[in-house]
Amino acid sequence: EAKHRGRNAYCLFKDGMGDLMRRRRELEADLDIALEKGQFELHFQPRLQISDARIASYEALIRWNHPDKGLINPADFIPVAEGSGQILGIGKWVLDEALTVAARHLGEARISVNVSPLQFRENGFADAVEEAIDRSGLPPSRLELEITENLLIEDDARALSILRKLKAKGIRIALDDFGVGYSSLGYLSRFPFDAIKIDRSFVVGIHTNANALAIVETVARLGHALGMEVVAEGIEREEELRIMIDKGCDEIQGFLVGRPKPIGALERSVPPPVGAILASLDGATRTT
Ligand code: C2E
Ligand code: MG
Ligand code: MG
Ligand code: MG
Repeated sequence: EAKHRGRNAYCLFKDGMGDLMRRRRELEADLDIALEKGQFELHFQPRLQISDARIASYEALIRWNHPDKGLINPADFIPVAEGSGQILGIGKWVLDEALTVAARHLGEARISVNVSPLQFRENGFADAVEEAIDRSGLPPSRLELEITENLLIEDDARALSILRKLKAKGIRIALDDFGVGYSSLGYLSRFPFDAIKIDRSFVVGIHTNANALAIVETVARLGHALGMEVVAEGIEREEELRIMIDKGCDEIQGFLVGRPKPIGALERSVPPPVGAILASLDGATRTT
């Protein structure tokens, strides 16, 4: 009986793996068509600047409008596209689309674009970004590229030279998802970031978590000491907003300020509850 069970377990496992690989191949095939058929779209999420209570920038977030499966979130296809190399084509589309929309619709606000490790390391990436900027007519200082730490660990010297090249063109660089993955404080001093984005995992439940509070406070102080802006990601609650401001975060991103939306549905102003909190800070604890 045990033997029987064992064999069934093995068969299940085998079928499970086959399933997974088949689904992955299907997804890759669908992804090939997606670019051709224009099934991708960008949503934009506002980032609130505390010092002047304005929306200083928007992050471009990709969505896949799948013909059968509906709207698919990036977590469900970006990793596959990264593995297959399809992220290179997708990444080029994202950059062009984000720059075009920013130049036409976002006024003085900046646009933030996520860049995947493979894309960043592709030969000629910095020049391709410059060409895309030129095509759009957007000033380079209004583009920010968001990269993650795992992109830095493989080849420090090469990553640093690409970052320097982008910075020399006037493009801003933000370190995304700070605090998860292979975080090393060393990266902060070695790489020329304009902004650090503190990951949402340090924000959730911060009003009841002394450890998370200490981390945010320390990261904010360190970031400022290194001349970087500090952004808090994933703010959903008013008490989280108050704490992040109190701990010195310069910018706030999260559902409380605005959800990612298509450009036509985007709200350009600060929602009233957030405005009220900012107003209550004036002349009180608000620094700069
Ligand atoms: P990310 O760059 O860290 O983007 C922030 C994610 O947090 C977004 O998820 C956003 O919708 C979500 N978020 C923002 N505020 C809140 C909040 O208050 N609460 C909660 N629960 N979530 C919030 P999204 O759009 O699903 O994107 C997930 C990840 O996919 C992104 O994380 C980024 O790593 C990747 N991604 C998205 N678009 C692109 C793209 O165009 N290119 C590449 N390479 N990666 C992308
Ligand atoms: Mg991001
Ligand atoms: Mg992030
Ligand atoms: Mg992320």
